[in-house]
Amino acid sequence: MLEVRGLDVRYSRTHAVKSVDLDLEEGEIVTVLGANGAGKTSLLRALQGAVKPSGGSVRFGGETLTHLSPAERVRRGMMLVPEGRQIFVSMTVHENLLMGAYLRNDGGAGKDIAKVYERFPNLAERRDMKASVLSGGEQQMLAIGRALVGQPKLIMLDEPSLGLSPLFVNNLFELIRELNQDGISILLVEQNTAMALETARRGYVLELGRVVLADTAEALASNPALTEAYLGGHAAA
Ligand code: ATP
Repeated sequence: MLEVRGLDVRYSRTHAVKSVDLDLEEGEIVTVLGANGAGKTSLLRALQGAVKPSGGSVRFGGETLTHLSPAERVRRGMMLVPEGRQIFVSMTVHENLLMGAYLRNDGGAGKDIAKVYERFPNLAERRDMKASVLSGGEQQMLAIGRALVGQPKLIMLDEPSLGLSPLFVNNLFELIRELNQDGISILLVEQNTAMALETARRGYVLELGRVVLADTAEALASNPALTEAYLGGHAAA
């Protein structure tokens, strides 16, 4: 479904992503791990089309995306839930969800918003409140809900567990599994290595922009080099 080959991202002085190859089959949960600054966000932003890669190619659903805008990628079912959620705090919960429908022109968003409210009763209860009153966990639900309104085939999540309470982290990973069971493929960037490897089928480890390990989640979880060598020496469990 997603085929990344030789992807390079350079900023003026930093070579943030170095010749990355990554595959995600339809229906998979794949995780990308790495210490701070390893290039995970840059990789996702290049996949989303927000950053122009300096080399390499991205194919999604058999089509080369390299020259498509972020909006065109969204229309093809590729949604990014960015780090820090980036919801519109001065807008209501409902208005935020409507933003998820912005690029749809099939008139069917109402049904998908209703499904989001069904899945997240907390959001339904707060539909007319400003998003700023939501807890961190609820804001994360809203960010994911907004992506769901766009009818994603693939959701890319950038450190969704960051700053959430342990209880909500468990709920979040459960939600990721549920979305996957509903047929959505997931590319999951995480610092919570233990949870990510429990949830994903396969994983990639980035170090200074390069893929240094690519394996099944099971093999990565039992690789002693993983936390010591590549993730800054601390497992975020
Ligand atoms: P974190 O977990 O801290 O978000 P990350 O793995 O997502 O880290 P990136 O944010 O992709 O890593 O950063 C990779 C490298 O690129 C870092 O050296 C960072 O300082 C640099 N970088 C990221 N964004 C920019 C930018 N807009 N301009 C210049 N350099 C950048």
